[in-house]
Parts: sequence; C-alpha cells; structure tokens
Amino acid sequence: MWKSAANTPDLQNIRVQTLQPAWLKNGVGLDVLRLDLIHPYVSGNKFFKLKFYLEEAKRRGHDTVATYGGAYSNHIAATACACSIQGLKSIGIIRGERPRLLSHTLQEAISHGMQLYFMARDAYRLKQLPSELTDSVYLVPEGGYGIPGMNGAAGIMEYTPSLETYTHIVVATGTGTTLAGITSAAASGQALIGISVLKGNYDLRHATERLLPEAGTYADFSILHDFHFGGYAKSNGSLLNFMRETWYDLGLPTDFVYTAKALFSIKALMAGNQFAQGSRILFIHTGGLQGNKSLPAGTLPF
Ligand SMILES: *Cc1c(COP(=O)(O)O)cnc(C)c1O
Repeated sequence: MWKSAANTPDLQNIRVQTLQPAWLKNGVGLDVLRLDLIHPYVSGNKFFKLKFYLEEAKRRGHDTVATYGGAYSNHIAATACACSIQGLKSIGIIRGERPRLLSHTLQEAISHGMQLYFMARDAYRLKQLPSELTDSVYLVPEGGYGIPGMNGAAGIMEYTPSLETYTHIVVATGTGTTLAGITSAAASGQALIGISVLKGNYDLRHATERLLPEAGTYADFSILHDFHFGGYAKSNGSLLNFMRETWYDLGLPTDFVYTAKALFSIKALMAGNQFAQGSRILFIHTGGLQGNKSLPAGTLPF
C-alpha cells in the first residue's frame, strides 16, 4: 500500500507475537498484533483508517488534505506522514492557541511538510474552516471517524493469520472507528472488546454502531469504560509501572494514552476470571508510541 524506504511506514513489518506474561492463567492464550512495528513513531491503526480517505482525495483531484486534532494527536502525525508519502499536501487544524513550544507530535507533523493552523477552542468545536482554506482542500474528519475510516480499519484483520482461532479481540478505542472496522471483519462468534480511553464516553457504542451495517449482521462487540485511568491521556503510577513491567518481561513497548490501558484491561479481566478456560485473545497493538514523548524524559525505559 505504501512505498517502502528507510523510516517510511512499512506494513510488511506487522507481526503477530505470542505473549506469555506471568499474569496469564486458566490455559488462556494471548497474542498481540504489532501494528506499532509499522513505524517507530507514527501510529499503526491510523494508516489503515486514512487509506480510503486519501484515495478519495486523489480520485477527486485534490492536492491538499486537511484534518483536525489536538497537539498530541496521533491522527495529526499520521496524516502528515501518510500525505507526504502519497504526494499530497497536508494541513493540520490544531485545537487551541499556538503554544510557545510545539509538542513533539506537531514538530513531527511539520517535518512531514504539514502546515499548521491553530484554532481557538470555541471555533474548533464548531469545526469552522479557516476562511483561507478553500473548497480545494479535501477534509478528513477528526480522528478519521467515518465509513471510509472503518473500511480502512477492517484491513487490519488481513494481517492476522489464523484470525478465526481467536475467541476474543481487544482494542483501545477513541472514536470507535477502528473497533467498527475490526468488528465488521470478525467472525460472528468472536467477542470484540473496545477499551474506551475517554472518561464516561457513553455515546461510544452508538458512534460505533452508526458506522456498521445493519444490526445483527456483525459480530458482538462490547465497550468497557473502567480503564481510562482518570481520562484521556491521563496516567498514574500503576499504569506507568505496568508499562515498565510489560517492557522488561515481554519486550513489548506500549503507549500511555491507548495501548497500555487496553493491555492492562486484559490483565484485570484475567484476574477477575472473565476469560473462560482455553480462551484465545488477540490484543491489537494500535501503535501510538510517539505519544510517550510527551512524558518527562526518563519516565519509561523505552
Ligand atoms: C487513535 C488511536 C486509537 C483509537 O482509534 P479509534 O479508531 O479512534 O477508536 C487506538 N490506539 C491508538 C494508538 C491510537 O492512536
């Protein structure tokens, strides 16, 4: 899908690995789909979500793509990177005033040629396009939320050999786009579990269902709201310790905004005997490691 070159995202790097953390029990198997291996900083699932949007932009003859996000948004970083690979210009509309010091995420976006517009929070909420942006720009919704995003995310499952052997598939969830895509590609007997990383985002089930075809035609999915650790991009000592432990014991890097919370939920559900004897779990590592750069230096050993 993408050209392969040094430091360019490469889907050939995706692997399924078996994890054997000490907290596994009851004969349960745990595999991880490593979308984080696509690129060291630019998030895994975001490339899948962007695929059909960027194809559509080109088909309609646009040379510039614009999208929305916060200063730490994986979606902004990924859009900048994917557009530069596809020969498209990109514009990031960033929530809030321009800070004195740009975040690593925004610096990364600029390094891929993205032009940034900072928008006051009220205007941002209304998604009013700056007047200097004309009709010539192709707009990708915030977070890639939408049917093209879901269809792109469904492609994630093509990278899972023996997909049908898993009883449970677990993924960190923000907008629900990736969860919807995975759900649409899963078999009807599989249990999909989305771990909401926002606090009290009870609209998430509806937002996910809105993307999916008619009810009853896709696998069962559930959303858990108890693993946000205080809210979006919040963390605490127990989450950071879990991330260190996961790195030392399994060699698996996670990010504190999404993937660490999802993997932690599997550990907690395991402790509560929520997985039947012999279950086989697939944890989708959606990437996002660039987000860890916003932690104080030295917080994590990776
Ligand atoms: C954006 C993101 C998600 C959430 O994806 P949605 O499709 O918005 O639910 C999960 N994990 C990582 C690492 C992300 O960057």
